[in-house]
Amino acid sequence: MKLKLKGQVAIITGSSNGIGAACAIGLAAEGVKVVINYHSSDADAEELVRQIKKSGGEAIAVQADVSQEKDVKKLIKTCLKTYGHLDIMVANAGLQVDASFTSMTLKQWNKVLEVNLTGQFLACREAAKVFRKQGVHQHGRSAGKIICMSSVHDEIPWAGHVNYATAKGGVKMLMESMAQELAPEKIRVNAISPGAIQTDINREAWDDPKNLKKLLTLIPYGRIGQGEDVANVCAFLCSDAADYITGATIYVDGGMMLYPGFADNG
Ligand code: NAD
Repeated sequence: MKLKLKGQVAIITGSSNGIGAACAIGLAAEGVKVVINYHSSDADAEELVRQIKKSGGEAIAVQADVSQEKDVKKLIKTCLKTYGHLDIMVANAGLQVDASFTSMTLKQWNKVLEVNLTGQFLACREAAKVFRKQGVHQHGRSAGKIICMSSVHDEIPWAGHVNYATAKGGVKMLMESMAQELAPEKIRVNAISPGAIQTDINREAWDDPKNLKKLLTLIPYGRIGQGEDVANVCAFLCSDAADYITGATIYVDGGMMLYPGFADNG
């Protein structure tokens, strides 16, 4: 299947490392000009830009905190100033601040909601405004594509992480409501919900062999995921091959959503 993404422009939030970096590399390999948004690690972001350029791609790095409206506006402005248009927004930035429910502070709750939910709202809203203004142009059949990076925890409750699970549950309704509202304008909105992907966010779950063994009991497919597993789906959803898909969530989780505890009769 040819994805025909060459010449399109994408912003990927929180993409100096982890899943976001994998999506940026995957899209750049398809000829997409990528805006690497980072929060604090400019060295990682610049290194990724170098790596993409070395492989023949186009990329820039832009600092922005996705929970800050002015930063998100600056991110979009810089993208348009550099590349002239925008076709894809991958709202990926996220973090965890874990605590048991009764010990969770308001600060911990707010931090995760501000980045993981409000950050996606801001990034998607600003991208949708650009897509509306551009309309369907020379790049593909839609006016623009939005990918929300959600999680299996948009469905699976997660004790000790209520702020994170609540934010991802919110992303599900944010994504579906945006998809419904924007479809008539030919703006497609979808979500990818990863299971366990080997990145910094969950390092303690795979760094120690005992923890990894425990994690694998939750994954019927028997391996931890890699950024590339998510990046492949991201590139597909951004392409015209997915032109009739909007409001969908694709679980990229090795079967984590299949209630593995019931595999041997429960
Ligand atoms: P990661 O920690 O490697 O990457 C997260 C990125 O978000 C980092 O680059 C970080 O700097 C950035 N970020 C954090 N706060 C930000 C802010 N305010 N503004 C801009 N950027 C900010 O983790 P990851 O696993 O690559 O996570 C990427 C996304 O995937 C997150 O939304 C996460 O919830 C989701 N996810 C990850 C997994 C997994 O198993 N790794 C599973 C499900 C969902």
